[in-house]
Order: sequence, then C-alpha cells, then structure tokens
Amino acid sequence: MTEKIDCVVIGAGVVGLAVARAMQLSGRETIVVEAERAIGTGTSSRNSEVIHAGIYYAQGSLKARLCVEGRKLLYQYCSEHGVAHRNCGKFIVATSPEQVATLEKIMASAKANGVDDLRFVPADEIRRKEPHLACFAALESPSTGIVDSHGLMLALQGDLESAGGTVALGAPVLSGVCSSSGLVLEVGGDEPMRLEAQILINCAGLNAPAVARTLEGLAPSAVPANHFTKGNYYSLAGRAPFSRLIYPVPVPGGLGVHLTLDLAGQARFGPDVEAIERIDYRVDPSRANAFYAEIRKYWPALADGALQPAYSGIRPKLGTPQSPLADFVIQGPRDHGVRGLVNLLGIESPGLTSSLAIAVQVRALF
Ligand SMILES: Cc1cc2nc3c(=O)[nH]c(=O)nc-3n(C[C@H](O)[C@H](O)[C@H](O)COP(=O)(O)OP(=O)(O)OC[C@H]3O[C@@H](n4cnc5c(N)ncnc54)[C@H](O)[C@@H]3O)c2cc1C
Repeated sequence: MTEKIDCVVIGAGVVGLAVARAMQLSGRETIVVEAERAIGTGTSSRNSEVIHAGIYYAQGSLKARLCVEGRKLLYQYCSEHGVAHRNCGKFIVATSPEQVATLEKIMASAKANGVDDLRFVPADEIRRKEPHLACFAALESPSTGIVDSHGLMLALQGDLESAGGTVALGAPVLSGVCSSSGLVLEVGGDEPMRLEAQILINCAGLNAPAVARTLEGLAPSAVPANHFTKGNYYSLAGRAPFSRLIYPVPVPGGLGVHLTLDLAGQARFGPDVEAIERIDYRVDPSRANAFYAEIRKYWPALADGALQPAYSGIRPKLGTPQSPLADFVIQGPRDHGVRGLVNLLGIESPGLTSSLAIAVQVRALF
C-alpha cells in the first residue's frame, strides 16, 4: 500500500522529533518513521544531558551558531513546556599550570561565538563554592545547564501529535528512490508500507550516512565517509560533593572526562574517547583505572571503588579517523541536487542543545 504525505522524517531521536514538530507546525503533514519500538533509544538517551553554552566550537561553524541559538530556544522551550532542567552552571578547570593558557584560549573562543558570560573565578571563590575541587584556575560558564532529555523528547512528540503529526514505531526505512516527481520510501517492520513524500528528512543519527547511501537518485559522492567513536560513562556510588558541572580542558575527540549531574543530583563521569569498529554499547570495566586517574586530577579525594560502569554513547563522526570533519552537515537540495531531500549528518555533541535550532534551519530550507 502506498501512502502519500507531505513530509517524512527518518528517526525519532531528539533531532528528528524537533524537526518533525517544526515541519508539522509549518503546515506540512508529517510522519516520523522510527526503526525501534520506542522514541529516543539511540544517542539521544546516551549522552551527558548537558545544555551547552556554545564555548568550544570553531567560530562561524554550524556547531557554534546552532548551539548558541539552540541553547536559548531550549531553555525557553523547557520553561514553557514543563520539561525538567536546571541552569546549574559549570567550571572548566586547569589541572596544571600550563593549562591556564588553554583556559584563556577557551574564553576567547567563547567570546567569538557570542558567549560573553565566561569569567575566571577568584581562588577564594573556587574554594568557597567547590571546596573539594583541586585546580590552578577555573572558568565559570553560568549559562550551562542540564536537561531531562527523555522529557524533552516526550514534549516534542506531544507537540507534533497535537498538531496532527504521527510517529510510527517499529518502522525501519529499508530503501528509497528520489526522482523529480517525489521521494518514495520502502519501510519494513510489522506493517511494511511504501511512503511517497515531497519532503524527506534523514535524521537517522549514527545510521544517517548508511540510510543516505540507500537512496537511489542521490549521488554516492554526496555522502561523506563516516566513523564512530565511543564515549563511556561511570557513575559514582553516593553523592558527589559538587554543586555544578566540572569539566577539564578538552581532549582530542571529546570534552574530557567531566563530572555531570542528573536532575536528581546523581553524579556520573565521562565520556572518554574510544575508537571502535562496530556499534557495541557495553562498558568495559577495565577502563576504570583511566577514569580514576583523570578524575583525580581535579578531585583528588575520589575514593577507590567509588566508580561503577554505567552506560556509553557513540559519536557519529564524519570523515575518516585520520582526517575527521569537525562540523555538523545539514545537506539540502542546493548541496546535493535532489529536490525535497535533507540529510543531517555528523550530529554529535552539541546536537541535543542545538536540536530546536537545527529544526528552525531545516524548516527554512522549504
Ligand atoms: C557520548 C555523547 C555525549 C553527548 N553529550 C551531549 C551533551 O551533553 N549535550 C548535547 O547537546 N549533546 C550531546 N551529545 C550529542 C547528542 O546526544 C546528539 O547530537 C543527539 O542526541 C543526536 O540526536 P539524533 O536524533 O540525531 O540521533 P539519535 O538519537 O541517534 O536518533 C536517531 C534515530 O534514528 C533511528 N533510525 C536509525 N536508522 C533508521 C532507519 N533505517 N529507519 C528508521 N529509523 C532509523 C534510530 O533508531 C534512532 O532512534 C552527546 C553525544 C554523545 C555520543
């Protein structure tokens, strides 16, 4: 059976749901097709749940712009829709004298991105606010926060469905054909269907490049190479004696093993950077030693045995491990020449923070 619809979004992660909501609210009848039997089981539920300020990203990049815009939209959306969140702030810390210069660079990069609320915290204030923290200097980012990512996705789904849109679960996209008369998708699962749409938005996360490669009519050269890196998390037994997020200076491929808090105050540490060949979410307990070493650089009193393997997330990296591409890719018809098609590729961190701004950008393509 062929069903005709204005817009199909592939993937019910935070980005797909935000994009689908925006498309439906702009008057296009929209369906989200999700391979799994629930929303948000991919990277959207395997991250730090941090609302990033927009500090680290290259000036002029999509990550820099969409993070700053998305953060503002996200705080407003969470307040208006009762999504649990907290503007708890964070300290970025230098754990060696040499890293103080790195903090200066981070502050300059933040300013260039329009994040002008960072400040160096005086030593006595660090001691008063975070007495267990060991560092040579700390930058405070007051606009950083945390969000209940599942609550956010439920709110986005609620908006989509209230406006007349649909989420089809257990509906994996198998293949598609793009032609001048429209886009036709073959969807498998318990109730296989053929969908014919004017607009197709590929928000399949880790799988987005693979899905794009199955689309007949899209030049294979339009889809960049991709690879994955894993980020493991360890949780802390008991309460952490910190009231805000604590980040070291970034490391190649990630932001460093930081302390994040969930909304109940439970602490977890991660993500590290592990090169992987295939998707496997198990956390290897033997990585614990490296976690203790990293965390003790800023929290020397971390007790032996306090960390437990928790969960992992996988970063959808573009390019090759030898020459990675650093930015989000939002590919519209002008980029690949296929009418009605948008591919969202490499939507790694800060994709959660940026989700509402990504949705604004995608909607503006039509
Ligand atoms: C370790 C880690 C930490 C992070 N921390 C943060 C953070 O603190 N703050 C922040 O802003 N960002 C963070 N991010 C980034 C953020 O989590 C992601 O950018 C965001 O969740 C991506 O959402 P998505 O909807 O694109 O992908 P996903 O959530 O992966 O959703 C994609 C969906 O597509 C579905 N799908 C795949 N193939 C098909 C198919 N063929 N047919 C139908 N459906 C399909 C999948 O089942 C999945 O549900 C982090 C990422 C990682 C890996």
